[in-house]
Amino acid sequence: MTFPDTLALIGHTPMVRLKGPSEATGCDIYGKCEFLNPGASVKDRAALGIVEDAEERGVLSPGGTIVEGTAGNTGIGLALVGNAKGYKTIIVMPETQSREKMDTLRALGAELVLVAAAPYSSPCHFVHTSRRIAEETPNAIWANQFDNIANRRAHIRWTAEEIWEQMDGRIDGFTCSVGTGGTLAGVGLGLKAKDPNVTIALTDPYGAALYSYYACGELRAEGNSVAEGIGQGRITANLEGAPIDTQFRISDQEGLAQVQALLNEEGLCLGLSSGINVAGAMALARQMGPGRRIVTVLCDTGFRYLSTLYNPDWLAAKGLIATANAA
Ligand code: PMP
Repeated sequence: MTFPDTLALIGHTPMVRLKGPSEATGCDIYGKCEFLNPGASVKDRAALGIVEDAEERGVLSPGGTIVEGTAGNTGIGLALVGNAKGYKTIIVMPETQSREKMDTLRALGAELVLVAAAPYSSPCHFVHTSRRIAEETPNAIWANQFDNIANRRAHIRWTAEEIWEQMDGRIDGFTCSVGTGGTLAGVGLGLKAKDPNVTIALTDPYGAALYSYYACGELRAEGNSVAEGIGQGRITANLEGAPIDTQFRISDQEGLAQVQALLNEEGLCLGLSSGINVAGAMALARQMGPGRRIVTVLCDTGFRYLSTLYNPDWLAAKGLIATANAA
């Protein structure tokens, strides 16, 4: 198979049946292999969607600059799309994110601005910092992935369509966790338009406020999580009107157990949000009963977390137990 250019490599990711999670629940649980995108994460899709939308609106033209605040993966997607199209990228990232993401961004030629972790209400939060830099930079756009719905449109148009086709139109449930909400809302809206009976479930980590919002209408966070790229405290524009039927909350330890089982038993090396998603898919499978076809997202590659998730010293320092049977 040949592709005309790098950007055409984004998307069309394969779907894999996850043997262990399927056997444990009596369902068929499938993972959409987003770690196989050229930037090794699901965020390549949002990056391409946001950049193409800005071009169509005439606000981004050759020689321009893309500025964004990100946990890292969107920055990597924007930097590779930027390189392929001739745009500069300035990426603002909390310094708590993995070393590998920072090194990858620098290697791609992005200008990296690291900021201390701060609450969203603080003007120093990475999102607000990135908006300010975009405003002060000539010929620049602010990608604004959290509230720019070109993000979820990319998932309605590409991810949901691919899932529907790959499942031959037979899918009972879909679930994933939320950073911006682009994936969950976009795939949820896209699948519901095909078949309103598909159950759409939120899988939330601890430390995020969406589980309580969808369970009882109140944004309230409990506990915390070391998972990168997920854990949202507000209803972003991308999440508005998302068709959420049910919700689960998954601990880091449960997610880690799935990461380790997928590595040791199926040879998949993934990040923690993927493990949390698979644990959420198993919770949905158990709620729906045996024989169902459930899809989730394998968001990014574990090679991005060799110094953290795959480092026993780091896990121990975070109070996490490194055995495949931990949960
Ligand atoms: N997992 C990882 C590793 C991510 O970087 C992100 C994006 N922040 C997500 C999951 C969540 O995706 P979304 O922004 O579409 O909610």
